[in-house]
Amino acid sequence: MELELLYEGKAKKVYQSDTDENHLILSYKNDATAFNGEKKAQFTGKGRLNNEISSLLFQALDNKGIPSHFIERLDSTTQIVQKTDIIPLEVVIRNIATGSITKRLGIEEKTPFEPALAELFYKEDRLGDPLINDEHALYLTDIKAEELAGIKEKARKVNTALTEIFAAIGVRLVDFKLEFGRNKEGNILLSDEVSPDTCRLWDIETNEKLDKDVFRQGTGDLITVYEEILNRLEAQL
Ligand code: UDP
Repeated sequence: MELELLYEGKAKKVYQSDTDENHLILSYKNDATAFNGEKKAQFTGKGRLNNEISSLLFQALDNKGIPSHFIERLDSTTQIVQKTDIIPLEVVIRNIATGSITKRLGIEEKTPFEPALAELFYKEDRLGDPLINDEHALYLTDIKAEELAGIKEKARKVNTALTEIFAAIGVRLVDFKLEFGRNKEGNILLSDEVSPDTCRLWDIETNEKLDKDVFRQGTGDLITVYEEILNRLEAQL
């Protein structure tokens, strides 16, 4: 039976599970996009790599006491997740300055942030995902102030856990983006994906970029560096 396609995003397709109405099937695509969809390409194997990496990382987070929507990996490019309504916020945590913040605020590249810096963006392609503050987030979404505080606290816990997971494979977690969703019980859960598409990952020894920046900046082969991350995680986890 054909699964019902609920939504197609830039990197994933979202299907309704045919065995449980509270489950979704996420299918990771081979498409890569950057600069709000202006730069596009296809990479054979990218969907499999991100599905496998994201599955391993959600499992590792769960083992460290941080649950998410992830239930299980189904096959090479798909995973089963709990159904949530995505809150239209992108929560970015930065350990080291790079990317948009260096340009926006004139902060020197590679400046460390201690403690890590949390930022909110409004997830709205038509507006180019603008940076917003807490009051904007409360105005633009249905979350309450305590829930926003909980989301930020959760994002910091994810940062601590992921920093450890990546350090163990010789990788520095520079920054990353998280999304949260609300499940049928009304609880807010870590959702979306955690992958080299959504994290900046630098080799601790060489500073080599092992994430989507190689595609954004045209400085390397996306598949080679995503494979490197997956191989190291598989050897460690
Ligand atoms: N990020 C993401 N999706 C977005 C925007 C950012 O996953 O739509 C991630 C990005 O990969 C990086 C972090 O969030 O790990 C911070 O990105 P930044 O704000 O520096 O944006 P960029 O420079 O990529 O435009």
